[in-house]
Amino acid sequence: MYRIAFPNKGRLATDARALFTDAGLDVRVHGDRALTAVLGRGDLFEAIFVRAEDIPEFVADGAAELGVTGWDLVAESGRGVESLLDLEFGRCRLALAVDDECDVRSVADVVPGSRVATAFPRLTSRYFAGSNIPVEIVPVSGAAEIAPHLGIADLIVDLVSTGSTLRVNGLREVATVCESSARLIASSAHIQGTLGGAEPQRALRELVAALQSVIRAKGQRYLMANVPRAALGSVKQVLPGVDGPTVVDILNGGDHVAVHAVVRASDVYRTIADLQALGASGVLVTRIERFVP
Ligand code: AMP
Repeated sequence: MYRIAFPNKGRLATDARALFTDAGLDVRVHGDRALTAVLGRGDLFEAIFVRAEDIPEFVADGAAELGVTGWDLVAESGRGVESLLDLEFGRCRLALAVDDECDVRSVADVVPGSRVATAFPRLTSRYFAGSNIPVEIVPVSGAAEIAPHLGIADLIVDLVSTGSTLRVNGLREVATVCESSARLIASSAHIQGTLGGAEPQRALRELVAALQSVIRAKGQRYLMANVPRAALGSVKQVLPGVDGPTVVDILNGGDHVAVHAVVRASDVYRTIADLQALGASGVLVTRIERFVP
């Protein structure tokens, strides 16, 4: 049995569950307050629900073989865990920010001895040490953006997603300390195979492949259209697909054939217009649940 530590609340928790469900590993909790659950139909994976910030510790200690949590929390923990897969949600950056009125435009402008409020003291210390600027870290457990207004810090290092929290608090982003997103993590010892034989390694590979197929499918669409056979040369330019479009005969289709292809979701708008210009009809676009190239 593989134990996977999941965040117990918040956006990370919701997105992690949705991803595993889409990969065929639905979280079957018994009762609302259960702290563990079975994943999927088999008896291979068990979920435990804990605080996102505790997950690197639990995985490093072997309380769980795997975990899902933000890379910012992994990096801050300094524990011996590694990322097996970028899950591509929970994207944010750990950023250095100052009062809007302040003259600091880059990290080089930070006056030595400045006070920096942050819930990420380890990453912040390392960042300023790397920039050769001695600063005083003011540890806070959250809401660092208030610190400059309270006069307890000159700068902050905090997570930024859209930047609106900084703006409403009259702060300006100056530099990125590190980028983050949710990751599937395992302890370094586990990855090196010292804790498992061939069977667990295979289960791990299959899990990563299943999650990867869902992540890959998210940005793709399956497009079908009927096009004049004579236009196939030009259709190929518009619809490169994975190996070029699949071309299918249509019963009573006359001089038309059906083409099927995987296209990037962001290209669908342009592709449909281009296909119509080539005489396409019956265009159908569907979401893809999983995609294994
Ligand atoms: P925003 O206003 O969108 O820039 O979001 C910033 C606020 O949301 C800060 O208080 C952050 O601590 C928090 N936040 C944003 N993204 C994340 C994330 N991926 N994980 C945890 N907290 C986040």
